[in-house]
Amino acid sequence: MDVIAANVAEVQTRIGEAARRSGRSAEDVRLVGVTKYVDAETTRRVFDAGCVRLGENRPQSLWEKSDALADLPIQWHMIGNLQRNKVKRTVACCGLIHSVDSVRLAKAIDDAAKELGRVAQVLVEVNVSGETAKHGFEPSELAEVIEALGDFESVEVHGLMCMAGLAGTADDARREFALLRELRDRWAVDTPSNIKLDELSMGMSGDFEVAIEEGATLVRVGSSLFANV
Ligand SMILES: *Cc1c(COP(=O)(O)O)cnc(C)c1O
Repeated sequence: MDVIAANVAEVQTRIGEAARRSGRSAEDVRLVGVTKYVDAETTRRVFDAGCVRLGENRPQSLWEKSDALADLPIQWHMIGNLQRNKVKRTVACCGLIHSVDSVRLAKAIDDAAKELGRVAQVLVEVNVSGETAKHGFEPSELAEVIEALGDFESVEVHGLMCMAGLAGTADDARREFALLRELRDRWAVDTPSNIKLDELSMGMSGDFEVAIEEGATLVRVGSSLFANV
């Protein structure tokens, strides 16, 4: 068996076990394979192993890979910092943008989606760790952000995204993931019609099981897929 296929299978098994431990079903949690470490041909092996959602953190790499692998029905996810001048091409090739961290960026996405004649699917990134280097809205800004994004006709918000703090312990990460879930539960009521907060994108190789126990629906896993490659 291909080593990447074995890694994908093992991560899927761990996802299923973490889901069941928390009384959820494995299908409630979807794997986004983060391919930022590898070239297009290695990325193809991740898809061939059954992982159809792939994430990149740099717009340029996302565009290049979506071109190089255009023969595959990959759903591309933009998971990193997105500058406004890179929005249009990203909206054109991306299924879900996880990293909306300003209203100005959301406005640029709305404009680009209109021009392209489509509706962009996004998540709102929240800075749950309070680390100053992290992108994302402060939890206290969410009410305002949801109201502002409610005006954008060509943007659909599907949920929230976060990264646990780099300096924290596993317990800190669990608290931060629980905070994202609480924010979702608190703000999921009475939202504008283009805003649904079903998805929680949280958890990476080091902490995806904890994230699932706290309610993650999308886990962004990279390095674990490329162990021993
Ligand atoms: C790189 C990256 C990941 C994956 O991290 P791993 O620890 O390699 O699994 C997840 N989310 C974001 C935003 C990333 O940049």
